[in-house]
Amino acid sequence: MDLSRRDFLKISGVATGGLFLPSGTALATGAYSYPLHKPIGETPTICCFCGVGCGAIVAAQDGLVVNLEGDPDHPINRGSLCSKGMALAQLNTVDGKPNPKRLTKPMYRAPGSDTWQEKDWGWTISEIAKRVKATRDENFIAQDDQGRTVNRLEAIASFGGAALDSEECALLVKALRSMGLVYIEHQARI
Ligand code: SF4
Repeated sequence: MDLSRRDFLKISGVATGGLFLPSGTALATGAYSYPLHKPIGETPTICCFCGVGCGAIVAAQDGLVVNLEGDPDHPINRGSLCSKGMALAQLNTVDGKPNPKRLTKPMYRAPGSDTWQEKDWGWTISEIAKRVKATRDENFIAQDDQGRTVNRLEAIASFGGAALDSEECALLVKALRSMGLVYIEHQARI
């Protein structure tokens, strides 16, 4: 019997439908009329512990992590996590409760002080901007000692973390270069 590729696919499709129809019917007629698991949203994230930058999928409910696993679609780790990465959920949740040691607000220690103060984000961001501007104004080098234009700032350095993705790094480098920074490094390169 001559069997074209198209005929073969048709026959396979009918056979497959016949095989799986009973189970599909059982589902439709209510053999499983209630969900076995409550659906929980999953979010992809990046492990922040080291420069490898492995991908993870985190499932959270009511502000607590209920599951965390390696992201099988992530090109770096393809679903695996080291023992440290497997403990990533503990940054947020310990024994089913919020981690009491987790920082949720900026902490500030004034120069010479031994005391940390809790600050809000508005104060923190404007304070950083104020200090960056003052340092740049004071140290900007427009020309080198031979009169060549260099427009650089050597008094501030930037050190990026592993949780930054490529797009965030691109934006960060643009912002830093626009201020004249030359000492720009990233954890993943070290
Ligand atoms: S899972 Fe392990 S190897 Fe991967 S980024 Fe986290 S600490 Fe690094």
